[in-house]
Amino acid sequence: MHVFLSPHLDDVPLSCGGLVHRLTHDGETVIILTAMAGDPPTPLPQSPLIAELHQRWQLGDNPMVGRRAEDECAAQRLGARAMHLPIPDCIYRTVGTKALYTDADALFGNISPADRAHWNLLSAPLPVEDVISCLYAPLGVGHHVDHQIIRDWGLALTDTHPNLPVYFYEEYPYNRNQEAVVAALDFHPNTMSPEIIMIDADEIDAKLEAIACYQSQISTFWSSITELRHDLIHTMQRIGSSQPVERYWRIADTHQLETRKN
Ligand SMILES: [Zn+2]
Repeated sequence: MHVFLSPHLDDVPLSCGGLVHRLTHDGETVIILTAMAGDPPTPLPQSPLIAELHQRWQLGDNPMVGRRAEDECAAQRLGARAMHLPIPDCIYRTVGTKALYTDADALFGNISPADRAHWNLLSAPLPVEDVISCLYAPLGVGHHVDHQIIRDWGLALTDTHPNLPVYFYEEYPYNRNQEAVVAALDFHPNTMSPEIIMIDADEIDAKLEAIACYQSQISTFWSSITELRHDLIHTMQRIGSSQPVERYWRIADTHQLETRKN
């Protein structure tokens, strides 16, 4: 069983949709475990960021119901199972009734100490019963606070599960910026080595169809699905020096992805 840790409802299909499709096509069980999938508090905290995003998403005062449904759709297209933890997205997290992250600078800044104390996942066991053969976590490209928290969970699991292969995936679309990838690699205490996975045409189609399920999220980065398709393929080709690829990183000196296809 392969488990992909995701900060938000969409990160894994956006970043790893090709590999997820390959794994399930080969008969593997894949779980996409999204941590920040919980409902917002009621009443909603006062925050210009919440007002702006709710306006953009058009899913009402609790957009998470619709967003979890989008995620079920995407996981189904990839042949994977979606699991959701009840942690609210960082825009909804508070100290008392005051929002912790109220603008873009805060969203891509450092994790608030109050936040880390409250949502300390680092010692949390993985909520899956079967034996995990491989774990995937975000690399933290883009430096979003939720991505940093789940990256750190992945790192903590490499310590508590020394025999479990752990891969860190580059988050699309943040990985369009090569400097952001380099900066994310710098955050890791260990040297990281890349694994390049070639993604074929069927896998790209599955990935794009899965991403298209996240209707409320597309407009944040792209003007249309056509633009997204062009941008995604271009980014995957640039990383692969013309061949479309997904790139994963491992803490150096460990064995290679069994699913590698060259
Ligand atoms: Zn995300």
